[in-house]
Amino acid sequence: MQDSYLLEENIEARNIENIELSLVVPVFNESETVSLFTDRVKAVFGKFNDIKLEIIFINDGSSDDTLARLLDLQKQNSEIRIVDLSRNFGKEAALTAGLNIASGHVVVPIDVDLQDPPELILEMIGKWREGYDVVVGKRINRDSDTWAKRKSATWFYRIHNKISEPKIPENVGDFRLMDRSVVDVLNALPESRRFMKGLFAWVGFKTAAVTYARPERVAGTTKFNGWQLWNFALEGITSFSTDPLRVWMYLGGVVAFISFLFAIFMVLKVLIYGVDVPGYASVVVAVTLLGGLQLIGIGIIGEYLGRSYIESKRRPIYLVRRIYGKKE
Ligand code: UDP
Ligand code: MG
Repeated sequence: MQDSYLLEENIEARNIENIELSLVVPVFNESETVSLFTDRVKAVFGKFNDIKLEIIFINDGSSDDTLARLLDLQKQNSEIRIVDLSRNFGKEAALTAGLNIASGHVVVPIDVDLQDPPELILEMIGKWREGYDVVVGKRINRDSDTWAKRKSATWFYRIHNKISEPKIPENVGDFRLMDRSVVDVLNALPESRRFMKGLFAWVGFKTAAVTYARPERVAGTTKFNGWQLWNFALEGITSFSTDPLRVWMYLGGVVAFISFLFAIFMVLKVLIYGVDVPGYASVVVAVTLLGGLQLIGIGIIGEYLGRSYIESKRRPIYLVRRIYGKKE
């Protein structure tokens, strides 16, 4: 409690009258949801004259008619800007593109499927006005997730937060409000493999949370299957921790120590009882166990080597095909 008290003391209220708000919305094959999203956002913010809205859709290489739908929507809604990427770069890259282009005082990454309720942004703006730089949306339940997704999420956070710095808060996704200063810092980070949740946590700043019950997707289907989530989790852990590399040193030490004891035992046994031939089973166990451990170790080293290899190419994070609706 002491900490949050200190935090309250240190923040300074913001008295900006007309807020420019940028929504950053990555979309990948979302033709069913883009208009539902836009209608809802307009319904929420239409009545506020002091909030100047900018909706940035990042079309992440959709293969359906998402782009055509967006261009239609843009005809009636001048606040829409569309960044059309040259192919599917993944949600992290699409978010990066949106943050690079967003121009508002406050920027909010938000999913298009209305699982992140736009109404909550009003509450976030309230906290921002109090002086917080980041206001995260925290889910109070995971009822809209499958059992497997809930369990794997719990384990991911447990392992990640044990071995990585900084910790990622549980049940907090990309949905959050960020002050301009935070977005500028994120945009200046040079790495090209971007695990956004980790980067958000890494930059820090004064953070508050607002809670919400996460609803189901309004339409369409999820874009992430189990295999992609597994890879995403690996990405997160290897981006922010080198412990998986270090553990082999200790494991190797323990195995070597045990073999040393075993060797002494064998020598004594031969000296006392003489030579006996059996031992096939123990040899096979030792060979396969060590072989397996070595392969895992090499795999993990490979994972990190691969990461630095890709990073060292310094390729851009995403490529823009075209931006519709330039800032005037
Ligand atoms: N998304 C994206 N690129 C991708 C995958 C997803 O831009 O390669 C977008 C998607 O259109 C949606 C958001 O990321 O706006 C979250 O995706 P989804 O709802 O499928 O994820 P879930 O909520 O199931 O984790
Ligand atoms: Mg979703």
